Amino acid sequence: MKLLMRSFVLLLFSFIAVFPAAFAAEPLSGKTVYVDAGHGGEDSGAVGNGLLEKDVNLEVAKLVDEKLKEDGADTVASRTDDTFLTLEDRVAKASRNASDLLISIHANSAVPEASGTETYFDSTYQAADSERLPDALGTRDRGVKESGFYVIKHSQMPSVLVELGFITNQTDADKLESPEYQEKAAGAIADAVVSYYE
Ligand code: ZN
Repeated sequence: MKLLMRSFVLLLFSFIAVFPAAFAAEPLSGKTVYVDAGHGGEDSGAVGNGLLEKDVNLEVAKLVDEKLKEDGADTVASRTDDTFLTLEDRVAKASRNASDLLISIHANSAVPEASGTETYFDSTYQAADSERLPDALGTRDRGVKESGFYVIKHSQMPSVLVELGFITNQTDADKLESPEYQEKAAGAIADAVVSYYE
């Protein structure tokens, strides 16, 4: 056991010596980011084109969580499986875990023609900081808007709600379903968090 421990420590040190950059590149070190996958359980959220919003949200939230961890953040997930949580539960969990930032992940629904990504902030708390976060998200074709969605209105840390796309639009739904797009969307969200703290 002792020997195993020693060789493990040795291995770790040689790894640090060879790859110092891997340990330095943790821009979110010391930050706690709360990742909220919208809906869940009995609440499916938007439904369309064979997709349930709650499933898309969870897949992307898991990827965001992974990427934030790679960037050195501590992460707290509102849910990691198909569980129902009230909006009050979600906000309370973020505060309980002293989260520095809250990101709520959703997909939209509307008439079939509507498509694109939207990012919402609420100015009740941390107004200036919340507005800066969606700005960092960048390439949003439907823009950044203010809205009183419960989780971002009542969370007491900077927060945004991202609508990844419209589940009711065939093209958007195809994207939302694809692992490549999910990966890309999660990457954009994690990058936005990093640039928010730069
Ligand atoms: Zn939703």
